[in-house]
Amino acid sequence: MYRTHTCGELRAANIGQTVTLAGWVQRVRKMGGMTFVDLRDRYGITQLRVDDSSAEAVRTTAARLGREFVIQATGVVEERASKNAKIPTGDIELNLTGITVLNESAVPPFTIEDESDGGEDLRARYRYLDLRRNPLKNALMLRHRIAHEVRNYLDGKNFLEIETPFLIKSTPEGARDFVVPSRMNPGQFYALPQSPQTFKQLLMVAGYDRYFQIVRCFRDEDLRADRQPEFTQIDCEMSFVEQEDVLSLFEGMMRHLFKTIHNFDIPNPMPRITWYDAMDSYGSDKPDIRFGMKLHELSALLQGHGFSVFDGAEYIGGIAVPGAAEYTRKQIDELTEWVKRPQVGAKGMVYIRWNADGSIKSSVDKFYTPEILQQAAEAAGAAKGDLVLILCGAKRKTQTQLGVLRIEMGNRLDLRKPFDYAPLWVVDFPLFEWDDETQRFYAMHHPFTAPKPEHLDWYYSNKKEDLERVCANAYDFVLNGVELGGGSIRIHEAEVQKRMFEILGISAEDAEAKFGFIINAFRFGAPPHGGLAFGFDRVCALFGGQETIRDYIAFPKNNMGRDVMLDAPSEIDQTQMDELCLASVLKPE
Ligand code: ASP
Repeated sequence: MYRTHTCGELRAANIGQTVTLAGWVQRVRKMGGMTFVDLRDRYGITQLRVDDSSAEAVRTTAARLGREFVIQATGVVEERASKNAKIPTGDIELNLTGITVLNESAVPPFTIEDESDGGEDLRARYRYLDLRRNPLKNALMLRHRIAHEVRNYLDGKNFLEIETPFLIKSTPEGARDFVVPSRMNPGQFYALPQSPQTFKQLLMVAGYDRYFQIVRCFRDEDLRADRQPEFTQIDCEMSFVEQEDVLSLFEGMMRHLFKTIHNFDIPNPMPRITWYDAMDSYGSDKPDIRFGMKLHELSALLQGHGFSVFDGAEYIGGIAVPGAAEYTRKQIDELTEWVKRPQVGAKGMVYIRWNADGSIKSSVDKFYTPEILQQAAEAAGAAKGDLVLILCGAKRKTQTQLGVLRIEMGNRLDLRKPFDYAPLWVVDFPLFEWDDETQRFYAMHHPFTAPKPEHLDWYYSNKKEDLERVCANAYDFVLNGVELGGGSIRIHEAEVQKRMFEILGISAEDAEAKFGFIINAFRFGAPPHGGLAFGFDRVCALFGGQETIRDYIAFPKNNMGRDVMLDAPSEIDQTQMDELCLASVLKPE
């Protein structure tokens, strides 16, 4: 036996026992004739003591220990002279009677402490050392617990966990596929799944009416923000359900997670908002409702007063920033520059400052009386002491810009506390999204999402404005401004699916080539079904109070999609290329 206990286990109750521990040397401190070693494993840290009375062999070995050496240590548990209340084993130490170096360690390239001195790239290259640090260890432990609770909950609701293949054919999520050449089928390629979407629907056809899987998905996207080319979903599908059944079951799952992980009760029932209201009130389809500062349309009030920029705009909207009337001219100028950055894309910004003394100051004083400006401020939800920020332009675009500004002001005013949780469902998404550039409709969710039955007339109409009005029983689970999950009720009739491909401009031949298998399956008794998927990495990060998912994945990629530890992707040898019948690869300049 390598050890009788872990390094996090011993307490005062063990005093007098002879025990053996194994682990890594965190630190060695020499104080006079005494040497203290902090021994670490996954469970904690225990202090080991060697002094003048220790056996010669023990003293010699202790003298040559270095950081991260792996050792086995036997000794008697004793009460510590100076206790450390910060760690659970802080009342005791081990008076060593034996010590064996199981393996030496090179000097680690950065300190294995909660706050490490290593830069991100260096730590990524030595990820296995970084993973020894508490913050990452805690993140992976949290991930494990959440996965466990997900399985507990879904198992209790009769869900079956069923694996689906990775080497498949293109899936419909709308990102680029990763592809894998097939040696046995020269010139042909598999695609890695962007999600198990088609398989879970086939499982419904097969009669497995409650399916889930905690599963890896692959999307070859530009890794802006906090994305990973391979990420994990909690993927679910159910048969004989309506939207309400899906929402209540998965609201239940999230409630279970919040309760078991954080002992936090989320509102029951959870708030719901339609996509249209979310856009109108928050300028986002994933609103952060931890704070107000809602968008208000001011077009009617502010048009027709001779200010041509406003008069020519489809939409004018404003947000009231609480207590910000004290913003200096310089701060407002800086904000104006901020909204003009390409990431936000506004052309300019107008402000109304409603001072605490009731006076009004605005960048458009010339065009409006103070009365009108005050009315506009009130309409934007402001009170005395607030600052109203106004943008104008095309409706949805301007709302989106205001939404981004709202989040920024929420950050600046510290209104977005990580452990303050405000989940909600966003429902009734439009089925289609029109793209001006390519002059065609795209599926807002994916092409298997069903139109609302009451919108079928519009769905079969050929008018653009009718199609734009079609809504889906599609829903997103949103937490603190982040879309944690989403899904929909699916099309289960071949006719409706055919029409979908037609609207999306996918020819019958293309549809057949790409999705023939599922269209065919729908001919054999497909039940009504629907489901959703949660971004598991993101669920973990949010439960951990972090914004980035990278720390919740044991071996993540960097923002160039590289694993810098493995140095992947990398070139392959000519023999491999030949076996795969691949001609030489064109390299970018
Ligand atoms: N497959 C969808 C996604 O990955 C989720 C769903 O519709 O169930 O976003």
